[in-house]
Amino acid sequence: MLNVFAANLGLKGLTMSFNEVRRDYLLDRWVVIATERGRRPTDFAKQERERAKVGVCPLCPGNERMTPPAVLVYLKSGKGVRKAKDENGFRHKNWLIRCIPNLYPAFNPPKEKVSRRKIMKSSDLAVAVGHHEVLVESPIHDKHPSDAKIPQLVHVINAYVDRLRELSAKPYVKYVSVFRNHGIEAGASLSHAHSQIIATPFIPKIVEEELKASRKFWKQKGKCVFCDILEKELNGPRLILENSEFAVFAPWASVNPLEFWMFPKKHEATLLDISQNKVRTLAETLKSCLNGLKRLVNDPPYNYGFHLVINREAYQSYHWHLEVYPKLAIWAGFEKSTGMYINTVTPETAAKSLQETLAS
Ligand SMILES: [Zn+2]
Ligand SMILES: [Zn+2]
Ligand SMILES: [Zn+2]
Repeated sequence: MLNVFAANLGLKGLTMSFNEVRRDYLLDRWVVIATERGRRPTDFAKQERERAKVGVCPLCPGNERMTPPAVLVYLKSGKGVRKAKDENGFRHKNWLIRCIPNLYPAFNPPKEKVSRRKIMKSSDLAVAVGHHEVLVESPIHDKHPSDAKIPQLVHVINAYVDRLRELSAKPYVKYVSVFRNHGIEAGASLSHAHSQIIATPFIPKIVEEELKASRKFWKQKGKCVFCDILEKELNGPRLILENSEFAVFAPWASVNPLEFWMFPKKHEATLLDISQNKVRTLAETLKSCLNGLKRLVNDPPYNYGFHLVINREAYQSYHWHLEVYPKLAIWAGFEKSTGMYINTVTPETAAKSLQETLAS
């Protein structure tokens, strides 16, 4: 019996094809791409989605007193917006955008001037000095980007940039992470449309690795590695969408089923210098991709995060981008214990499905 098995396996071994193990463009991160018994994206549409309980929403208009004073509000003013903040116990009403400190911050602003040595206590201990903010994207509770009006999304992106500018100017801030959690399973404890901003006293690992790898590429080839990736992906099987300013594609070694990245086509290291024209195109691109994702797999939970630089030092070698991670799979023992991932939807299939959905 054993011999028969061995013979069978041996024979199969000759004809069997293997899954691929792909390495990220820049990170030392490996993903098993299930090319062999992969799933169709639409398989995920049937999943039950957990919905947040609707109680009193602290982010809805009228409940401004339930949150700390806003560090930034956008108020309607003629055809444009007026920017303000809540001061002296006053809370602005009728806002379009509202940015507030998180009630349970991971990082706290220092009370007084703080030196580098006071922050980095030792090689394995730092003080969580920084900022943690919640950016309320709309006065309307469930106006998520997939369905928001473009002018409102333009406000959202402009507010990201405003906060980025203010926070990155602080001497103890080394990185500002702008991200969004959508759906309970993706960590959004409040269902009101919001993003978060966390300013940290050091550069987080993934961004640091990207920075290092892109600096190395620049030194060797005199070229931005992200521009290089873009060039390849624009003509490849993983392209999802391209317009005048942006390209959206499923990355070669996608960790998550239906993961996609959005790159500005012209080299730009940070969001800090983005033009109003580009902000509008970014709003349109973001909306159409998130709307496509929603239609394709029944409004899945997802996270997105910007990768960018906040100082001039890496302006030539780094290239800002947005990474979107739909949460359709559960990371279990293998992923958690090894840092290697299994993705059951090939990026090529993901790109094709998203592209078709966007076109429909
Ligand atoms: Zn609300
Ligand atoms: Zn570039
Ligand atoms: Zn990145």
